[in-house]
Order: sequence, then structure tokens, then C-alpha cells
Amino acid sequence: MPNITGGCHCGAIRYQVEGELLVHALCHCTDCRRHAGAPLVGWTMYAEDAVKVTKGEPKVYESSEHGRRHFCANCGTGLFYINANVMPGIIDIQSATYDDPDVVPPMVHIQVAERISWMERAHELPAFDRYPPQS
Ligand SMILES: [Zn+2]
Ligand SMILES: [Zn+2]
Repeated sequence: MPNITGGCHCGAIRYQVEGELLVHALCHCTDCRRHAGAPLVGWTMYAEDAVKVTKGEPKVYESSEHGRRHFCANCGTGLFYINANVMPGIIDIQSATYDDPDVVPPMVHIQVAERISWMERAHELPAFDRYPPQS
């Protein structure tokens, strides 16, 4: 496994990951969607001790009874999710915050029961290299 580094948008928080990837899932649940303000969120799952925050300190938001979402209080980027009740000893990292998100491709879509209906066929939409489209 390559040494993975990442951080928030403003750079106040940096982290590194050394350990075995358990799964990389694209989550469609309402909870992730609302917190991120995005149609889906990519999560890479590791043992909790595989992740080390090397700069700054994330703020923790209690998004449900046991769910804890760690984010940058300065720029708002979501970084980690921990749920000691459902997934003890596990940390989820928002994979789009990796410096190189291509190192670990996603493996599954999860919580599709809560997926926005138009997301099912989003990959079929016309695609353009830039916006606005150049003719
Ligand atoms: Zn930040
Ligand atoms: Zn989710």
C-alpha cells in the first residue's frame, strides 16, 4: 500500500495513512449527502490507528447518536467519520481529500436505498472537459 497523504481545502489540517485498506465505498446515504452538500461521498475504511493527523485538529460534529464527523473548522472540508457503536476501532476517510485520490479506486456503491434518483444514471449524461463547454 502506498503511503497516503491528504488534507482539507485550506491546508490547516493534514493527515497520513499507513495501513491496510478495508474498503472504499461510495456512500449515497442522506446523512453523508446533507453533511457534505454533495450527491455522494467516497469513504475509505481503515483501522483507527492507521490514520495520523499531522497538522491541525479537526472539529468533531455529532451527526447522529454515535456518528462523529470530523471536519476542518476553518474551510469546512469533511475528513473523517467514526462510529464506535456500529464500527468500533474503524475510521472512515473522505477519499476525495487524498492528495492523489486515484491511488485507491472505489469498490462499491452503498446505501443506494437512499440514493437521489437521478444519480443512478448520472454517468450517462453528456460530459465536457471544461465548463462552460467549448465548441
Ligand atoms: Zn481547512
Ligand atoms: Zn453515508
